[in-house]
Amino acid sequence: MNLAAFKRSALIPTSALAALAVGIAAPASAGEVVQPLAHSISAAMAQDTASATYPMTPAGAAAWVDMVEKDMLGYSIRASRIYWVNATYITPDTDAMAAEIGAEGTTKSVDYALEAAKYAQVPGLDAEVARKLDMLRNMIVLPAPTTDGAAVELNEIATKLNSQYGKGKGVLNGEPINGSDIEAEMGNLDRTPAELAEMWASWHTNVGAPMKDDYARMVAIANDGAKELGFTDVGAMWRSGYDMPADDFAAETERLWQEVKPLYDSLHTYVRTKLNEKHGDAVQPATGAIRADLLGNMWAQSWGSIYPLVAPAGAGDIGYDVTDLIAAKGIDEVEMVRVGEKFFSSLGFDPLPETFYDRSQFTKPADREVVCHASAWNIDQVDDIRIKMCIKKNAEDFTVIHHELGHNYYQRAYNKQDYLHLNGANDGFHEAIGDMIALSITPEYLVQIDMLDRERVPSADKDIGLLLRQAMDKVAFLPFGLLVDKWRWGVFDGSIAPATYNDAWHDLKREYQGVTPPVARPADAFDPGAKYHIPGNTPYTRYFLAHILQFQFYKAACDQAGWEGPLHRCSFYGNEDVGKNLNAMLEMGASKPWPDALEAFTGTREMTGTALLEYFAPLQAWLDEQNKGKQTGW
Ligand SMILES: [Zn+2]
Repeated sequence: MNLAAFKRSALIPTSALAALAVGIAAPASAGEVVQPLAHSISAAMAQDTASATYPMTPAGAAAWVDMVEKDMLGYSIRASRIYWVNATYITPDTDAMAAEIGAEGTTKSVDYALEAAKYAQVPGLDAEVARKLDMLRNMIVLPAPTTDGAAVELNEIATKLNSQYGKGKGVLNGEPINGSDIEAEMGNLDRTPAELAEMWASWHTNVGAPMKDDYARMVAIANDGAKELGFTDVGAMWRSGYDMPADDFAAETERLWQEVKPLYDSLHTYVRTKLNEKHGDAVQPATGAIRADLLGNMWAQSWGSIYPLVAPAGAGDIGYDVTDLIAAKGIDEVEMVRVGEKFFSSLGFDPLPETFYDRSQFTKPADREVVCHASAWNIDQVDDIRIKMCIKKNAEDFTVIHHELGHNYYQRAYNKQDYLHLNGANDGFHEAIGDMIALSITPEYLVQIDMLDRERVPSADKDIGLLLRQAMDKVAFLPFGLLVDKWRWGVFDGSIAPATYNDAWHDLKREYQGVTPPVARPADAFDPGAKYHIPGNTPYTRYFLAHILQFQFYKAACDQAGWEGPLHRCSFYGNEDVGKNLNAMLEMGASKPWPDALEAFTGTREMTGTALLEYFAPLQAWLDEQNKGKQTGW
């Protein structure tokens, strides 16, 4: 964990079918920060610390950055220890300690960001120093201006929005229902369309609408803060972390979306047909947009829970179940982790240090409260790496273990870098590495590690079901992953004014996802507020990038391993050349612009959706067959 660490993903992993790595919609984040607001508020005034030690010269800037990195490294180690103890032993005391160290981090990051903005103006800066100053300027998600009272007001609004979301309730059959229960009920196949519409509308209205004025005020304050740091607005600041001009980055994400959109369109058409067959024209017409509450998820962002409604006949049963294989082998939770470690060892990575096994939390302690949400930690930025899970002996957690270990190996690989470079190449990379490893749990891999007999490897006619189940999460997510920040970029740059907040949100939902609200929305609605990452102020584009990059990484590994079968069946287990190339990217951390890191592993400097398309190519062909004669699009 460091100050630029990843924010918690609020996406809930869905239950997994066995094999082909089906089912983890969006696993836990790398070294997540326990205090969600830690870096979204300002608590300090600008101060002029340019002194004789750190003059406003290129050399002074370099020396100042050096000092900051040393200070932040020390802080991050102290903070990580406290957060670890807090997450694995929740008491009022450890909560207080975590809040205290979080506040200290906020003050530091705000002070350093403001100073960095000044040093960034010095002419003739060394390019590397300039890049680090940008990283420091960019460290706060929601910056407050230094005007009197602004930091306090911004903090109050952000805290209020967050807590409103946490306490939010919807309605089911006239009774109140809390956030996590309503989320689960949206995926309950026994619910009627009327019940789904009731839950959808009540959640959006109750949670979102009261936030609207505060949200608009928060946007205005934070934009002033971004301007003080030298950005035109907060959205431009968020887009500035990608080693390219902010506008180019926006165009880049749109280009990636256009690449993969044909696959999404085919999936959308097929699922719409199935929903039309189930519900009839009055509920879901055979053409046009899909009713947003029928897709098994409050935000229509992952559709895995309605897979039984769309499953191809006979392709659901693949003949084995990883949960059963784990039971048959008789392996326990720690041994499941050892199996994951073996994957990386087979690629030539060093074994995990003994401290990993001594200090990780693998199972839920019987006698105290802990955070079970899976995460990967890097305590000392050297090799005190750990995972924190409450492992269950099932297929889903077997996949999550591989995912979390991906984070740990990334963290250890870049541990020689400067403090500000102890991170993924961009914020999509870390999750993508974990997911690439999770994609690799194929039947072939299970055979190689002696968990599955070769004669039980499912035949090719089962692949469509497996790929469709996978696509219901990973492909369905893509347009949503993009539009959340498209909306915020517009809100922050003023092209979406408060009066059109809600209409613009649904215009984007319709344009990108092809979904429509089940009922007319009231004039005062603020439906974006009903998605955690909006009141929680968590940037979202990273999840879109990770969904693209994981397939690109996976294909690169399979190509290097000389895999010749269908991409989705590939295993590169045991291939040390792949390990060497992968390590070349991982060990760079964030020390170079991300295209350099991408090139080190994949040989290309461009992100591309073509690997995702190749992975799902058999499904695309099958979908097009099913969709014959149907109108595609909405
Ligand atoms: Zn993760």
